[in-house]
Amino acid sequence: MEKTEGITLKSIEFREFQRIITVMTRDMGIISLIVSRLGSKNYRLINLTSPLTCGEFVFKQRKSDLWRFLDGSILNAHAPIRQELSRLSAAQVMLKRVLDTQLPHKPAPALYFLLKTFLQRLQSTPVPDTLLTAFTLKFLLHEGLLSTKTICGTCSAPNSHHFYSGDNFCSNCAPPFSTALTSEEWQQMIHLLACRSFDALETLPLNLPKLQLLCN
Ligand SMILES: [Zn+2]
Repeated sequence: MEKTEGITLKSIEFREFQRIITVMTRDMGIISLIVSRLGSKNYRLINLTSPLTCGEFVFKQRKSDLWRFLDGSILNAHAPIRQELSRLSAAQVMLKRVLDTQLPHKPAPALYFLLKTFLQRLQSTPVPDTLLTAFTLKFLLHEGLLSTKTICGTCSAPNSHHFYSGDNFCSNCAPPFSTALTSEEWQQMIHLLACRSFDALETLPLNLPKLQLLCN
């Protein structure tokens, strides 16, 4: 029997009163669990096994990758996110980023912490778009898909602010579909990545549409 904290990313109905859930855990990366006894009155289990909910999961490992859920408790159901479309949309993009990129059973505690703290803040932030952009840039940096070096990847020229596929280029070497930032926008991105407090992050003056281009 094992126990870990996690955030449900995805939930699929399976047979009667069962679900297969995909959970980003604090200690084990992504795991899949089969949950039984999901009667329509079992609100605690239904909420725990719905996407977005952060909770403690108790389970038994099996030979296959699909482990058996035994019990659990809700730490945060993120109700305020579910009640507003702009927050919910931002949260769904965050969950999908993690779901689409992380390998099963490969621990990524820093990424788990990133997701957990951003979902927490998303409940009350006045600027969900800014939060989503900050999350995505930090996520890309974590995954090695964003470079903060301003040296051209081809000719090593300094002050190269054209981004393409995790590398930077000068205006001469930039590939056709790269995103060009001004040095001011580049500074904004650096400030945003370095930001340690949500209060500061939410009040940064940002050219959000430009920074969002880097996240595609
Ligand atoms: Zn160059």
